[in-house]
Amino acid sequence: MIFPITSPITSVSASSAPLSFIKDGRLQASPTVGTLVQYLEPAQVEDRCQLVFRRFLADTMLYAIPVVDAQRKPVAVLDRNYFVEFFSREYATEVFGRRSLAALFLSGKYDYRKPVVIDHACNIDEAAKIISEAGTSHMSGFMVVEDERYRGIANGHDLLGVITERRQSELYYLAHYDVLTGIPNRTLLTERLVQACADAAAKYRLVVLLFIDIDRFKQINDSLGHAAGDEVLHRVAQRLRKSSREADMVARLGGDEFVILLENIPNVATADAVASRVLSAMREPIVIGECSLVVTVSVGRAIFPTDDRDSSALLAKADSAMYEAKASGRNNYRGYLPGTASYKPSSMHLENELRQAIESDQLVLFLQPQVELERKIVLGAEALIRWQHPVRGLLRPVEFIPLAEECGLIIPLGEWVLRKVLELLSLWRGQGIPLLQIAVNISALQLYSSSFPDQLRSLLAQYDMDPRYIELELTESVLMKDVCNLLPTLNAIKALGIRLAIDDFGTGFSSLSYLSSFPIDCLKIDKSFVRHIDRMPINASIARAILALANSLSLTTIAEGIEAGEEDKVLRQLGCMYGQGYHFAKPLPADDFPIWCMTWNSQPE
Ligand code: C2E
Ligand code: MG
Ligand code: MG
Repeated sequence: MIFPITSPITSVSASSAPLSFIKDGRLQASPTVGTLVQYLEPAQVEDRCQLVFRRFLADTMLYAIPVVDAQRKPVAVLDRNYFVEFFSREYATEVFGRRSLAALFLSGKYDYRKPVVIDHACNIDEAAKIISEAGTSHMSGFMVVEDERYRGIANGHDLLGVITERRQSELYYLAHYDVLTGIPNRTLLTERLVQACADAAAKYRLVVLLFIDIDRFKQINDSLGHAAGDEVLHRVAQRLRKSSREADMVARLGGDEFVILLENIPNVATADAVASRVLSAMREPIVIGECSLVVTVSVGRAIFPTDDRDSSALLAKADSAMYEAKASGRNNYRGYLPGTASYKPSSMHLENELRQAIESDQLVLFLQPQVELERKIVLGAEALIRWQHPVRGLLRPVEFIPLAEECGLIIPLGEWVLRKVLELLSLWRGQGIPLLQIAVNISALQLYSSSFPDQLRSLLAQYDMDPRYIELELTESVLMKDVCNLLPTLNAIKALGIRLAIDDFGTGFSSLSYLSSFPIDCLKIDKSFVRHIDRMPINASIARAILALANSLSLTTIAEGIEAGEEDKVLRQLGCMYGQGYHFAKPLPADDFPIWCMTWNSQPE
């Protein structure tokens, strides 16, 4: 019998051109849905209902059973809960038990679900779009076909996992490689250098850094233009690669500075040989269009452990050796000589300054408005800290938060922010200004301190503040670090009535199963997915998948880093509720916030 039901919700065939993405520093084709398929024996539409019911009873892990027709074409997906509930009723077992699934479907008594069907060769971005458009109930399973025949079933959460992982590998690439030359950047070099020094110390071996700077690069840039300058950097990077061994890391620190990291070398002469290969590799002119340029470089050397045992000091010493090479007439090579050091002192100084800053009120609270996207009503604001440094001016968090986290100062700093926010709210209350929710960034150390919930409780009591005006932003990596120990803390915070949000969502490694067990209220879509969302289908797919996930967990969503009206529009169309970004307002001094709100609210649509 040919089963006369309507076709499945969506059917999509393989895309014409696979999207590409970056993995391990290389360009790769976008994965296909085929990579996610799990085979699950389908039920035939002619199977007896009882048979299917028994299958569910026998295997409690079975959350859905796909149903196919005689040609193995998809017909329906039987949802465990619904199907079992239906057949647990006596009449259903009696009346439909011996009948086929087809007869059950035709009776109209059982409201079966039409499957979402996707071709196994379809790429993951397209699949994400289809699933999220089909609605959250399909996050749990969609049918995968090959030549229109059933091939298996895949899970929407796995799909989100793959997309996130892919995006992470892209972010990893952007964070660790220099986009212009394709070689490692300072971050990756630093990571490798620290590791190399540790290994070398254990094995009593040497590590050598060659610090390379292009001579008169500014002149090249100024006279031939930036495009030619970029081309020179690109070619120099290639020549440095050719001059070194396969295992050596060639990195670009920024500007016209490069480093070659030599590990596992038997003696310093090996490093000297690489340096002289570098100098001679530069002898051949670089031809750009009509121009033939002779580019020279200056090279400085520092050795672990003889010149220094500390990796950042070692880099600074290779740098000062390079300056010696330049001072001696350029196109030269010099080893580090004690006494020529001009390297930076440790971060001790900054740490002391920051300690003082907290005590002497040099910290300043900024607020960045958050708005409801549809109606453009102000929801509240995120508290963002700044440091009014007496000499260096207004510093942004990147310049001191990492240090504060390293040396533990983040605890008093975080406390300062919370107190300041409560002070501000109670000041507004006193002035009759309507209160809005303020989101505060919380660092791992704060959250892991056992007294944190108590601290929150006593602050709220001290200012007699309604907890619903406070939201805490935590990052995924903080949450996933120590899930078991964290849950009681999160529950304690939640019990106070304070809201919890996950910041920069999508950039860390969230375990989706843990996510559902955390008492979270809101996901903050990271700004890297918001950027050019109107022009980058991959970002739209990720946002869509995050929104579907948030929906299925009943969480609110806020997108951060909205810079353009088009981004705002796409996010609104995708169903994102709230937004924050320069498009609405840059972070502003906290005292200016009430005026900003008044002006914003009085604007015509
Ligand atoms: P975050 O929590 O993800 O904050 C958002 C950052 O994005 C802020 O940078 C904000 O100024 C910036 N931003 C907002 N809209 C846009 C936009 O449209 N385009 C772009 N390109 N950027 C936008 P900010 O203030 O420099 O803060 C950086 C990070 O420092 C924050 O990231 C947060 O992780 C940390 N931070 C800031 N204040 C505190 C604090 O009080 N405590 C702790 N622990 N961390 C803080
Ligand atoms: Mg934040
Ligand atoms: Mg963020």
